[in-house]
Amino acid sequence: MNKKLLSVEYSEFVSLNELAAADVELIEKAISIAQKAYSPYSKFPVGAAVLLDNGAIYAGSNQENISYPAGTCAERTVLNYVHSNYPDHKIIAIAITALKSNSAVPITACGFCRQVLVEMEQNQEKNIRVIFHKPGGSTYIFDAASLLLPLAFNDTYLKK
Ligand SMILES: [Zn+2]
Repeated sequence: MNKKLLSVEYSEFVSLNELAAADVELIEKAISIAQKAYSPYSKFPVGAAVLLDNGAIYAGSNQENISYPAGTCAERTVLNYVHSNYPDHKIIAIAITALKSNSAVPITACGFCRQVLVEMEQNQEKNIRVIFHKPGGSTYIFDAASLLLPLAFNDTYLKK
């Protein structure tokens, strides 16, 4: 048996003042759209904003449903919109934030959203920067979505 170690590097910023203006703008869009979330069941509004390679920014919020599994996370709301409408553009970055988290640190993406991010990153052959922000608090930045899902299920398993 061999023991193996997976490690992930990311950056933590304690203040928005440390971030590039473009990242702050993306975070602000995520905070803004989170205020329009439809989250009557979890009462946990989340916003996500995507920056494309043409400079355009799109945003989405979580959209819940009384049939709980029918709901969709903020990340997939905006990622699927962007992929549907702008399939030829690459995603440069995504910022994600939750307005009412009890955590002292930024919330992170769920497993479903990580899987979607990783596949979009692989297909576009360009890293997607992932920014997790706690309003009034710190920010985590991962330089690639793949860092969030080591050993991700991927299509190389199917090509034989
Ligand atoms: Zn999710």
